[in-house]
Amino acid sequence: MKFGGTSVGDGKRIKHVAQLAKEYREKGNELVLVTSALSGVTDALLKCARDASETGKTSIVKEFIADLTKQHHQAAHDAIEVNGIVEKVSNELDLRIEELEKALIGICYLGELTVRSIDYISSYGERLAAPLLCGSLNSIGVRSKAFTGGEAGIITNDEYGNAKPVEITYSLVKERLEPLLKNGVPVVTGFIGENEAGIITTLGRGGSDFTASILGAALGSDEIWLWKEVHGILTTDPKIVPEAQTIPVISYIEAMELSYFGAKVLHPRAIEPAIKHGIPVRVKNTFHPESPGTIVVKEQKTIKDIVKAVTVIKNVALINVSGAGMVGTIGVAARVFTTLANAGVNIIMISQGSSEANISIVVDESHLDKAVKAIKVEFRNGTIKEVTADRNICVVAVVGAGMANTPGVAGRVFGALGKAHVNVIMISQGSSQHNISFVVSEDGAKKAVQVLHKEFGLEKVR
Ligand code: ASP
Ligand code: MG
Repeated sequence: MKFGGTSVGDGKRIKHVAQLAKEYREKGNELVLVTSALSGVTDALLKCARDASETGKTSIVKEFIADLTKQHHQAAHDAIEVNGIVEKVSNELDLRIEELEKALIGICYLGELTVRSIDYISSYGERLAAPLLCGSLNSIGVRSKAFTGGEAGIITNDEYGNAKPVEITYSLVKERLEPLLKNGVPVVTGFIGENEAGIITTLGRGGSDFTASILGAALGSDEIWLWKEVHGILTTDPKIVPEAQTIPVISYIEAMELSYFGAKVLHPRAIEPAIKHGIPVRVKNTFHPESPGTIVVKEQKTIKDIVKAVTVIKNVALINVSGAGMVGTIGVAARVFTTLANAGVNIIMISQGSSEANISIVVDESHLDKAVKAIKVEFRNGTIKEVTADRNICVVAVVGAGMANTPGVAGRVFGALGKAHVNVIMISQGSSQHNISFVVSEDGAKKAVQVLHKEFGLEKVR
């Protein structure tokens, strides 16, 4: 079970989490808990490190450390009921915070912030959260021990900021955690591991889900539960459609399609180990544990719903490159994409019609300027005659495994849009047929989502 930053946002919430774990354990389950940093702490650590390296002002560090100490001491008081344990945990926190302070002061003097030191600094959020949760469990009579990712056996490559576990992780975790499950509940820091030299690495932002998935896979668990502040994976953004529903069951493939498309509930990377080991992943709401949430499974036996969800991605931009010289010319697409890759531009969506006279590309809005510039430079001698850009667009994606081999879905999608007078600017459907994505103007996006949510009956309770 992994608890996200909001779920362990302060001492009272940590206590609630400990109680939840106790209940599940008393029902006969064996569990491992993975904790995120208290909400906002990872961001605050990163900001302080950046400010320290840029300004060299140790006063910034002192102030930050004082706030961090206060916040975590308060959490210890609120999360832990037994006095002796509060002191023990507070002492542990103080020792860690002291190390952190030294590192931050070092950064002030050095004036540089390497990827390695960013990982080291940002690991402290989780490294302060784990003793709190562990102490809270101890204080309500549940045996527990806190581990860092590395101590639990998560050994990664050296890709700081985005590290991946190496194979030995799976046997190490089993060896270290399994013997403890009978008598207690180990607590492991999410987000962090260590490389073979014992240096702390992080698994990428939001990486605690990934940690849970790695541990669950290594232990051959029955299910991996990700506790968040939402009811599960939703049919769409409730800010756009208030009737949006929680999806009870969804397949790995569908969940991946959704996470690529702006439904930030799950990162594809986070469910990769679960997929490999065929372990179901459940997303649950910490504040409504009675609701079943969403379960992500390998395959659904019967698929009732053709479309599962409609999502929208904002803050994107459309680039269109065109020119008669492109038609039948081999290597133009390769050059466009290589150019964008070299410029560090991430491509979200692509479409080329069979006329070959233009290629449309959707990129992050923040990448637009460098993308356009790079293409213009690369093709300054012709072939591509025109490069145009449009910032005022959104991508809408319709997702569902039931769409594969079902005739008429695209017809319904675009028919409904037509009736609602929403103009479609660009379309893309991969041959997996699990996702139809299209581009509309920013003004049309809300309407498009509302119309499609209704068209496929997604507002009905399942
Ligand atoms: N604390 C880390 C972050 O904010 C990891 C996580 O919360 O999953 O990115
Ligand atoms: Mg977080």
